Amino acid sequence: MTVLPPLARAREILAATRLEHVRYAIRDIAVLAEEVARQGYEILPLNIGDPLRFDFRTPPHLLEAVARAMRDGKNGYAPSLGVEEALEAIRREAERKQIRNVASVFVTHGVSEAVELCFTALVNAGDSVLTPRPEYPLYSAVLAKLGAEANDYALDEARGWEPDLDDLARRISPRTRGIVVINPNNPTGAVYSRPTLEAMAELARRHNLVIFADEIYDKLMLEGEPHVSIAALAPDVPVVTFGGLSKAYLAPGWRIGWTIVSGDGAALKPYLEGVHKLLRSRLSANHPEQYAIRPALEGSQEHLGEVAAKLRARRDLTVRYLNATPSLHCVAPRGAFYAFPRLDIPDSDEDFVKRLLVEKHVLVVHGSGFGQAPGTRHFRIVFLPDEATLARAYEAIAELIRDHYA
Ligand code: PLP
Repeated sequence: MTVLPPLARAREILAATRLEHVRYAIRDIAVLAEEVARQGYEILPLNIGDPLRFDFRTPPHLLEAVARAMRDGKNGYAPSLGVEEALEAIRREAERKQIRNVASVFVTHGVSEAVELCFTALVNAGDSVLTPRPEYPLYSAVLAKLGAEANDYALDEARGWEPDLDDLARRISPRTRGIVVINPNNPTGAVYSRPTLEAMAELARRHNLVIFADEIYDKLMLEGEPHVSIAALAPDVPVVTFGGLSKAYLAPGWRIGWTIVSGDGAALKPYLEGVHKLLRSRLSANHPEQYAIRPALEGSQEHLGEVAAKLRARRDLTVRYLNATPSLHCVAPRGAFYAFPRLDIPDSDEDFVKRLLVEKHVLVVHGSGFGQAPGTRHFRIVFLPDEATLARAYEAIAELIRDHYA
């Protein structure tokens, strides 16, 4: 029998240094939650914006459309920009959003892939994109991968989390290529006023910047007013508007998003050639699921009323409980399903969130995971669970504050 020599100790395989700038606190805190769950505790999850984890279900006409597409053999690769019936429905959706000057529409593997692709086609290493603070962390993660800078402009808590326009203007430099506008907003639940959107469009116009308008929550408006697309206010400005099936259409696992690029067609031509090249190089988005886009945008919208009614009740309960708790202050969310309350305590928000998880088994995400004004502390709540679950979570938060911080 031959005896093999002992294996040399393997050397570590190091990750790229640019990943040092990638954070995704939403999933990171879940690792500690798994440990707590392994000890046998039931966790109240107020951390992930997936409606399907709670009492929301994908509308049956969308399920049927995808099942039919699969049975009809739509299981090969799709065209790189998307199937024609979906693209036509997205163009009509752009009209309903009053977006004129549409230069391209395409379907991607969620808004997440669209952001990756649209940034990759635009920025060079060392360029900069203005991102909100607090931020949905996808944007800075993609910029970090590209060796570009996420230059974070302030959202102003004292003004209902509207963008601070002076801060935004101050941050523009010759390396700035774009502005990210998330409206309705994750993590604050803010809906921006028309004058704010007009002022942001004017800054983009003056400095030749591309606006990235993340409008994935545009149908989850909690005050009943119509949503205003920034692209509709500025047909001459290059605007890349994102939407998808993950939130209002209750199908995040299908990974279907879309993009509407609007503005001066001739000016956008070289950029769009780059975007289309990248779309071709990754073959296509999921194929059968694209057949849910037309029925989603143009079929029954009945479920939206139910979703909004549930979210309104849950938002009201959230704001009532939090603002009745000492050391907490919460701006009332006006869209989406997130709240971003401020903590007036001496500890860091990360310590607070870990303590809440270990002692009370309630899972929220610390504000530092999204970025926040220096010296401030926050946490993000997803108010998708039913009222009884939310009330239990908020009572546990109040107890923790009474026990440790009163
Ligand atoms: N944009 C925002 C603001 C989000 O909150 C999310 C998910 O939470 C996404 C994009 C991701 O969307 P998708 O599921 O289409 O990739």
